[in-house]
Amino acid sequence: MKVVMIGSGYVGLVSGACFADFGHDVVCVDKDSKKIDALHKNVMPIYEPGLDTLVQRNVDAGRLSFTTDLTEAVSGADAIFIAVGTPSRRGDGHADLSYVYAAAEEIAKAADDRTVIVTKSTVPVGTGDEVERICGETAPGKTLAVVSNPEFLREGAAIEDFKRPDRIVVGSEEEWAQDVMREIYRPLYLNESPILFTSRRSSELIKYAANAFLATKITFINEMADLCEKVGGNVQDVARGIGLDKRIGPKFLNAGPGYGGSCFPKDTLALLKTAQDNESPVRIVEAVVNANDLRKRAMARKVIAALGGEARGKKVALFGLTFKPNTDDMRDAPSIAVVQALTDAGADITAFDPEGMEEAAKLLPDVVMTDGPYEAASGAHAVVMMTEWDAFRALDLGRIANVMAGDALVDLRNVYNPEDVAKAGLSYSGVGR
Ligand code: NAD
Repeated sequence: MKVVMIGSGYVGLVSGACFADFGHDVVCVDKDSKKIDALHKNVMPIYEPGLDTLVQRNVDAGRLSFTTDLTEAVSGADAIFIAVGTPSRRGDGHADLSYVYAAAEEIAKAADDRTVIVTKSTVPVGTGDEVERICGETAPGKTLAVVSNPEFLREGAAIEDFKRPDRIVVGSEEEWAQDVMREIYRPLYLNESPILFTSRRSSELIKYAANAFLATKITFINEMADLCEKVGGNVQDVARGIGLDKRIGPKFLNAGPGYGGSCFPKDTLALLKTAQDNESPVRIVEAVVNANDLRKRAMARKVIAALGGEARGKKVALFGLTFKPNTDDMRDAPSIAVVQALTDAGADITAFDPEGMEEAAKLLPDVVMTDGPYEAASGAHAVVMMTEWDAFRALDLGRIANVMAGDALVDLRNVYNPEDVAKAGLSYSGVGR
């Protein structure tokens, strides 16, 4: 099969490289020529474990190529995937669909007759209908099927997730398009990953419902953590105690600084907007969005409390900046709000992140980036464990205590053992324990 990905970011590049690895002939398109130039030199525009090797292997095998020329790329394609960004629209929080619609128009102009156009970007329910309308208007003589195929991969584990998904969701009621999708995903199907065929609208909703549900789980355990702090419980025990119940499950029950990243914040907000427009409120998701927004500044207050109630003139070191480990993605990372609140309170911030500092520096120009955790901690009154990179799990706490000017360790991911921290001469505060 010839597959084309429009948009070569986290989703387009990973999906394209994995499809090529299945044996398909894949072209990844991006309008950002810097990205494409870098990819031609096997320099990855993002950090994702294993991606460079996967890309190189498939480029060498002649199955994967990169271009900025959409028109040339889509010629002869069986399926063209739209994997462009759908960020929050400034001002109102609706999903900004301008990139999707622009791509749809370009694709419709250039695609062959009887091509499947697949929306992999996360798009609100009904977007497929609009893409279909655009295609019909732009290329009235062509038969183009518009299919929804949301992506569920997680950054940091994207290749594994793509190759071993819990399920593949395909929204289309056209049989010939379903056949093309079945063929594209056949290698996974053989691996026993279930393919769920639904209507296009259901498929679009599944993605938002999944993300909203996961965001709810995180927010739920975060509020339980707050309650634990008030009443003297340990949220890790609570999470384990409920997570062992198979109806609940153990995942997404780690209390922390609130969810962030390129998906949950914008997708929960977009779902709220869709619900409002359709006069069908999703009050639980509304509460989740509000609680999560408030939580990030609450984490900064936790740090200020650990500093003795005053941050002015104090130095705070952040371990980790990205919204989770194993990615360089800084979009909506909780660290941004925490840094802002601490800076507002008069603190000076230093930080170290194994992969995210280049991206972070663009968003947090006042943060002093350092070469390692000990350098960041040097002269700090408080150290904040922000992102649970493996590199921070086995630090020499005694050495940290020695280089610090103060003694506060604020563990927003609950990775340290409070007794070990105390033994090193530091004062510990975690989340919900
Ligand atoms: P991204 O910003 O990393 O990549 C999007 C790319 O599309 C950019 O490189 C941009 O230059 C390119 N682009 C935009 N318009 C184009 C056009 N007309 N032609 C060619 N290229 C164009 O975005 P992402 O994180 O990969 O997300 C893409 C979509 O997938 C979003 O809807 C997102 O919600 C969804 N999604 C993301 C993840 C994730 O973990 N990042 C997971 C699941 C779903």
